Amino acid sequence: REAPRLMTDASAPQQIDTSRPTIARAYDALLGGKDNFQLDRDLATRVEEINPGTTVLAHENRAFLSRAVTYAATTLGLRQFLDLGSGLPTVENTHQVAQRAAPDARVLYVDIDPMVLAHARALLAENDHTAVITADLRDVETVMSADDTRRLVRTDEPVCLMLVSLLHCIPDHDNPFDLVRRYLEPFPSGSALVYSHLCSDRPERAQDFTAGVLASGTPWGRVRSPEECAQAVEGLRVVSPTEDDSYPAVLVDCDTWRRAGVAPVERPGDKPIWEH
Ligand code: SAM
Repeated sequence: REAPRLMTDASAPQQIDTSRPTIARAYDALLGGKDNFQLDRDLATRVEEINPGTTVLAHENRAFLSRAVTYAATTLGLRQFLDLGSGLPTVENTHQVAQRAAPDARVLYVDIDPMVLAHARALLAENDHTAVITADLRDVETVMSADDTRRLVRTDEPVCLMLVSLLHCIPDHDNPFDLVRRYLEPFPSGSALVYSHLCSDRPERAQDFTAGVLASGTPWGRVRSPEECAQAVEGLRVVSPTEDDSYPAVLVDCDTWRRAGVAPVERPGDKPIWEH
């Protein structure tokens, strides 16, 4: 396919880079989407070879996102969603899930990949409560001061901040877990974080996966240990992963978070890599 030229706004032309894979497009390939190129499909195939089950993880993560957004909109009553590293539009996107539960919910999508804006435009054309911007989430000031952010996201109202399957894209030297605090800082109590992160307690498997992604030439972070992944929620109250609130409030395999009839699992023995 020929790469289209994009304009994110009047002054910022963005070229879609087809010379190397991107995480958004490879993830789309894992989910069975069509918004990807051969290099992206090659990366998806490679990570599935390195870690059989990665495709399943991607689907499990999407299902988790849907359950978590429903919980935030219904149980917590949140009406604004800041979805960072949102990915390419797929089924059950955040605005569809949130606005099904609460039609007045507002959603801002942020992604570094210009393909996301290109493909979300049509989907969002008639939705005044939802927008997508192309930005690097590490630049907190730019994200928070963008016109669409100021239009849709109010800092005097609790927010649902979403960092779903994202912080493993951020290298250690960019302080991925500080970003959680920097984004939540301006919002009042009652805000929530929806979070998942590629996780492993087997250092060699984590290292192999990370090396496989980085070898493709796309910028990335790394698979982290359960203890490292938990840094994101330090100082926050963790919601119980079961509906009856009886289970200890800890991070679990996201596939088991508030899933009817499924017991929460902290360290799944059958998965060398999972999403915490
Ligand atoms: N959050 C979605 C989900 O869970 O289904 C998509 C997850 S996908 C694995 C990670 C997304 O984060 C990709 O779309 C990628 O482009 C985006 N991303 C990676 N680094 C980013 C950055 N520095 N700023 C904004 N987005 C980023």
